[in-house]
Amino acid sequence: MQKVLKVQLICEHFDQEGNAVDYKTICKLLWELQKQTREIKNKSIQYCWEYSNFSSDYYKEHHEYPKEKDILSYTLGGYVNDKLKAGNDLYSANCSTTIRTACAEFKNAKSDFLRGDKSIISYKANQPLDLHNKSIRLEYQNGTFYFWLKLLNKSAVKANGFRNTEIRFKALVKDNSTRTILERCAASVYDIAASKLLYDRKKKCWYLNLVYAFEPQLAKALDPEKILGVDLGIHYPICASVFGDLKRFTIDGGEIEAFRRRVEARKISMLKQGKNCGEGRIGHGIRARNKPVYAISDKIARFRDTMNHKYSRALIDYAVKNGCGVIQMEKLTGVTADANRFMKNWTYFDLQTKIEYKAKEAGIQIIFIDPHYTSQRCSKCGYIDRENRPVQSRFSCQKCGFTENADYNASQNISIRNIEKLIEAQLQTKCESQADNS
Ligand SMILES: [Zn+2]
Repeated sequence: MQKVLKVQLICEHFDQEGNAVDYKTICKLLWELQKQTREIKNKSIQYCWEYSNFSSDYYKEHHEYPKEKDILSYTLGGYVNDKLKAGNDLYSANCSTTIRTACAEFKNAKSDFLRGDKSIISYKANQPLDLHNKSIRLEYQNGTFYFWLKLLNKSAVKANGFRNTEIRFKALVKDNSTRTILERCAASVYDIAASKLLYDRKKKCWYLNLVYAFEPQLAKALDPEKILGVDLGIHYPICASVFGDLKRFTIDGGEIEAFRRRVEARKISMLKQGKNCGEGRIGHGIRARNKPVYAISDKIARFRDTMNHKYSRALIDYAVKNGCGVIQMEKLTGVTADANRFMKNWTYFDLQTKIEYKAKEAGIQIIFIDPHYTSQRCSKCGYIDRENRPVQSRFSCQKCGFTENADYNASQNISIRNIEKLIEAQLQTKCESQADNS
């Protein structure tokens, strides 16, 4: 499993004499490398295109495609690499990565070019710099993380008067999660993979898009036969339980609704204020006048995102704590006509996506089920009836008298393996018995 962490870099490099190299010099150097990367990529595409033309001409004449090995004496990628590897300042492993990427992109889009559906790839300025995993070294020293990056080849190192091939950057650590990830990378708990160096023109600084790889944790302690049924319901946004277990995991979700109401109330009062607002906002049209109001919608969206992260994390922790190797839930599509749900449907969809992602990380399998009748079925005796739901939030079996919270009962049904087949069979017998009675 791989993930990406964006880290801002500050140059902390010293030259041969031990003098600090300033950020501007490094920036200039990296911009030059960007320019070269762009050139290399565009030339790679050109070579691939030429070969592709040659290949189709050959086909017209010989009625078969030429073998790359016979014409170029090795593969196309190898041929392009050989043509382009000299004449630039890039560290060779990074340069090869760049060429390989461009050739692969050409190959993927080739049929589109030939059909004329797409124009041939042309790389723009501000290209990210490719970093081979061996070009990145992370070091932890007195509370600071340093990245030693191999960016230049030997002759370029000499030309710039640097001591060695690696250039040192300080990582700007702004939060604890970044710190934790970097700590794990430094301790080789996570492996650093091929990454990219990017320049942010607005912020005028360089970022490392650090790719790190890790094994999904705790997979061994989980029981592949133990299923956690997750109901995304009306009374609780999430209710989850293991079959036969009275213990349950619930999120009441009131905090999002309360936050939304609070903020919406403020939005209305701000809209009213807009009518007689101050000088600064007058005469700039409705958008400027109501600018603070638009900011509020973003605020709600961000709050939902944060809460969904928190909820999904808590759910996965519950599953892991209980040794559940499987989570069963209903597949949501993000668009439904059902407006009765507690929050908007996309919020549920987003929540589900986050659950899915975090489950994968923890080594938990996700099985999607069809939720039909799971809210009407008695999880104790299996009796299915619309009458089992006297009120929305309560479940009360008309046959065996089992009474529980409706979302809990649904989650119990969802935690049964092959529940769809079971319900189908039960509906079948119910139909038959009704036919016998009449
Ligand atoms: Zn029952």
